[in-house]
Amino acid sequence: MQNTPQQKTKIVATVGPACDSYDQMLALVKAGVNVFRLNFSHGSHEDKAQIIKHIRAINATEGQNIAILADLQGPKLRVGEIENNALDLKVGDILTFTNEKCVGTMEKIYVSYPNLAGDVRVGNIIMIDDGKIEVRVVDITKEKNVKVEVTLGGILSSKKGLNLPDTKISLPALTEKDLVDLAFIIEQECDWVALSFVRSVKDIVILRSKLDEKKSKTKIIAKIEKPEALVTIRDIINESDAIMVARGDLGVELPVEKIPLIQRDLIRKCIHRAKPVIVATQMMESMIDRVKPNRSEITDVANAVLEGADAVMLSGETAAGQHPALVVETMRKIIGEVEQKEYRYNREDDLNPQQHSPSFSSDAICYNACKLAADIKATALIGMTQSGKTGFMLSSYRPESPLYVFTKERTLVNQLSLSWGVRAFYFDQETNLDSMIDEQISVLKKNGLVKSGDVVINTGSTPVHLHLPTNVIKLTKVE
Ligand code: PGA
Ligand code: MN
Repeated sequence: MQNTPQQKTKIVATVGPACDSYDQMLALVKAGVNVFRLNFSHGSHEDKAQIIKHIRAINATEGQNIAILADLQGPKLRVGEIENNALDLKVGDILTFTNEKCVGTMEKIYVSYPNLAGDVRVGNIIMIDDGKIEVRVVDITKEKNVKVEVTLGGILSSKKGLNLPDTKISLPALTEKDLVDLAFIIEQECDWVALSFVRSVKDIVILRSKLDEKKSKTKIIAKIEKPEALVTIRDIINESDAIMVARGDLGVELPVEKIPLIQRDLIRKCIHRAKPVIVATQMMESMIDRVKPNRSEITDVANAVLEGADAVMLSGETAAGQHPALVVETMRKIIGEVEQKEYRYNREDDLNPQQHSPSFSSDAICYNACKLAADIKATALIGMTQSGKTGFMLSSYRPESPLYVFTKERTLVNQLSLSWGVRAFYFDQETNLDSMIDEQISVLKKNGLVKSGDVVINTGSTPVHLHLPTNVIKLTKVE
């Protein structure tokens, strides 16, 4: 059984060369990781298969439910190789972007985007290397090359990313590389798949149909990092299973000062729709090569917890940093400190069953189960779910009592690891509601999570064989 820390706000850690051995990953789990992210922008399928094996082995031998999050690169644009891996670009320099492969020089630079000349307009801004370099389109030539003038200089090296904040990019949501990666992700039965640079709900629908074709149970995370996505964000949230506030690219595509309120708004919208939401990028960046975080980073993590995020994410800090386990431990301590206090997400003001929800009645049962559990200071709030809905819904009311979710869907056990406060158990009995509830309580008792005399709240649905949405709340004094 798990004896690792149980903070309510979950930690997602990206796996990379700095932490990809079994022992290093186990150390990260012991420090508080709930979800491992595999970044398909880097590394081979062989490496990924090995990492997945390690996660499965940790789950099996350590009684863990660590989820696997596969992150697709999506339509990310990049420059090609650069001569001597450095071009010193000065304001006013004129460069030529081409879609013919070549080694980049002041004459010509390759960009991995066949229709660049067709999509950009004169005057459009192109950001390079997370906005460290900026250029403006000045001409589109007959040969379909794009001439740009440098407006913010810097050293350009090979393979750096491009962002085109004011261009509608005509690349598909899933590139050829993504499709190959997706086949691997489905075959490996990863728990979550994240789609980068989501532009509209269509992108999610396409990914969903690819998963359905293969009868995959992998759930979808929409990474919000394009301004376009914000315009139809409600539809995107509804169609996705979870959301990532991908602040890295979002902060390049939009003025950086817009990020804090967008983050707050996205978290709130996701909580209202019972969709897990991850806050990502540069949360503990300074710990890549230091043993203590910046004070501003501590406050950033704390604020994400206070805003009610389901999970906070580490990228380079664990994948390529010098102190992966220490970063996780430090993050967990910050989360733990904030969660101990009464400043947690303010349920009373903000969290109610949503009238317009298609599952309004069962949402209301979940909401009142959370309230009742808080009123009687229940030792455990226990839910059952088959579709995941009740698990995500109970979590979305951010209950005060420890939340345990039982499910006979094995994939859900791990998927729920992303969800705020949830500890999930595999449970395949289906007799009558009373004996299922008794059995679930005794599982918690065996695990030392409840004891005789404790009061617990269960939710369920009856008659059991009809598999209706949650329709029962029961209060039990543990024998
Ligand atoms: P990335 O996504 O790390 O895959 O770019 C996260 C972000 O952009 O913040
Ligand atoms: Mn990104």
